[in-house]
Amino acid sequence: MTLNGKLSLLVCGGAGYIGSHMARMIAEAGHEVTIFDNLSTGHKEALKWGRFIQGDLRNPADLDAAFKGTHYDAVFHFSALIVVSESVEKPFDYYENNVTGTLNLLQTMHKHGVKRFVFSSTAAVYGDPVMDIITETHPLSPLNPYGRSKLFVEEILEDYATAYGMDSVRFRYFNAAGAHPDGTIGEAHNPETHLIPNILLSSIDKGRRLKIFGSDYPTPDGTCVRDYVHILDLCSAHLAAVVYMAQNPGSHCFNLGNGQGFSILEVLKAAGDVIGHRIEFDFEPARAGDSPRLVADSSKALAELKWKPRYTDLREIIETAYRWHKNPVY
Ligand code: UDP
Repeated sequence: MTLNGKLSLLVCGGAGYIGSHMARMIAEAGHEVTIFDNLSTGHKEALKWGRFIQGDLRNPADLDAAFKGTHYDAVFHFSALIVVSESVEKPFDYYENNVTGTLNLLQTMHKHGVKRFVFSSTAAVYGDPVMDIITETHPLSPLNPYGRSKLFVEEILEDYATAYGMDSVRFRYFNAAGAHPDGTIGEAHNPETHLIPNILLSSIDKGRRLKIFGSDYPTPDGTCVRDYVHILDLCSAHLAAVVYMAQNPGSHCFNLGNGQGFSILEVLKAAGDVIGHRIEFDFEPARAGDSPRLVADSSKALAELKWKPRYTDLREIIETAYRWHKNPVY
């Protein structure tokens, strides 16, 4: 599938990890990009592509200002609070930002006649898996407020499609990983909670010891199994979604993963191969709200979006992340 003509695309959360890679991919494909971000967790150093508007989703006036004078062909929405354990402690913050904020965004789109929306959802909507490989028809039963905040928005999107004719694609990401291979943008959360960056950071900063959460999950080696998908593969699916919505009205959901599960100990081994030495760690109690195994069946995205992940080798994904973490710009 190809995108015809020059599009104008809004990237909410374009200063963050996935959003900054998305803004870059849009600009490099020759389209116009506008970034809307409150810079609460994003980085202004990552704002190298397109026009930047600082604003907060919780403030409808900020959103209105971002939509005045520009017609967007589609909106990509990456602005979210994403830390599962924090969502258990601070549900208000998660529902206010992830649900109310998104509702404000959708209502602003509706008011300004913008009809296409791509939403970053998560495999966390599935909860404890009842299938080895998860398809989009797996029961939806999130284990924590983060997952629920994403599921509520998914349901709102179905209602917006029915009532207002707003088309949407909801992507259930499995574990986003890696960085742009040129090493100029990458993952930088504070505090960092994700596995691959924490492994790499502990290998670079000797004072920072890796913790592995949980050793008696019902998995072959007792540690959690996840499906790691490269950030640029996630972004390319978003561009395909814009084309798809033009031909397929309504609200659609797709899993995005590589379809291969790796335990934490397997990720650690692969990272050790990339870095060239073993990484020391301590086992800690399991984190609240973590699912033992999340592995995607992405065949729907492969068939309907004609999406094909390019980074199918875990070591290569880790290599791109390592290039960034060795020499981070922010
Ligand atoms: N994890 C870990 N140590 C860390 C970070 C994560 O053991 O420093 C584990 C976490 O408990 C989960 C897996 O690694 O089982 C993936 O966690 P991550 O936060 O990267 O992604 P999630 O699957 O929670 O979205």
